[in-house]
Amino acid sequence: MGPFEYFEPETVEEALSLLRKYSDTAKVCAGGTDLVVRMRKHLVNPQFVIGIAGIRELDYFRFEDDEGLRVGCLTNIRTIERSPQLQERYTMLPQVARQFGSIAIRNVATIGGNLCNALPSADMAPMLIALSAKAKLVSIDGERIVPLEDFFTGPGKTVLRADELLVEVRVPTPPPHTSGVYQKYTTRGGEELAVVGVATLVTWGSKDERCTDVRIVLGTVVPAPMRAKEAEAILKGKRIDDELIEKAAQIAADESRPRDSIRGSADYRREMVRIITRDVLRQAFERTQSAR
Ligand SMILES: Cc1cc2nc3c(=O)[nH]c(=O)nc-3n(C[C@H](O)[C@H](O)[C@H](O)COP(=O)(O)OP(=O)(O)OC[C@H]3O[C@@H](n4cnc5c(N)ncnc54)[C@H](O)[C@@H]3O)c2cc1C
Repeated sequence: MGPFEYFEPETVEEALSLLRKYSDTAKVCAGGTDLVVRMRKHLVNPQFVIGIAGIRELDYFRFEDDEGLRVGCLTNIRTIERSPQLQERYTMLPQVARQFGSIAIRNVATIGGNLCNALPSADMAPMLIALSAKAKLVSIDGERIVPLEDFFTGPGKTVLRADELLVEVRVPTPPPHTSGVYQKYTTRGGEELAVVGVATLVTWGSKDERCTDVRIVLGTVVPAPMRAKEAEAILKGKRIDDELIEKAAQIAADESRPRDSIRGSADYRREMVRIITRDVLRQAFERTQSAR
């Protein structure tokens, strides 16, 4: 790790001033589970590190009547996993969190760090995109709200500017009769990065058996998490059976763009997209039906 100067701001304003001052030469550090690893490997060599973990006002989640859930960027993955309120109102988020790293990592890793690091394998991203979540980005000049669907621009790349902080994630309340399931596939089991990750969110009409809305979001097998919109289109408005699910899963696999990597060949990963998409769709449809 190269030499760097470390700051510990106590307020958002202080952090934003430092970010404006040092801009491209600085890195924000939240939990540090990504940043420190990359600094040790000399993949990034910031001259200034701005540790935001002490800004307590960024560690929260709360429910707003009209806007749903708001999650401060410093909320760690373990908190999401263990919250009874989230389990009751946004079951799909603890379900994602349980699949994330080890307990030790989940205790430190933050939701903001997971999104800003923007690895294609970031586990929180696909379900949050499926839920139409938005990110609140702030700089000294003001704030902007960006749909997470537009936040990621490529591996490790986002629309976040060097002088901005992602301070909050806003998640609208899912419509009634909605179920979400995320499944990550790893080669050696739980505590590693996904080879394939797929999130699905399914909504049923209140009167008949038709699926009124569906989201399928692919992680890892695309440069940035992305909706499989062609697969979604063949399910939306239909009565769902196994044949249709198989067809949608195949289309999602065709929409994915995996590359050969140490974690599997492109063909293997594409086939895993088909299998995982089929499984998450089945689970989401079964859950929504049994809750009706
Ligand atoms: C052993 C191990 C296992 C892991 N397993 C998983 C896993 O199963 N799934 C998974 O998705 N990830 C996993 N990771 C990766 C990592 O833990 C997560 O991405 C984590 O959520 C990052 O959060 P952090 O708070 O530690 O981020 P940091 O390391 O502090 O920051 C990551 C990046 O985001 C930037 N950043 C952080 N917060 C903000 C903010 N609020 N505003 C602007 N920029 C910000 C930093 O500058 C840095 O570039 C693992 C890592 C390790 C070491």
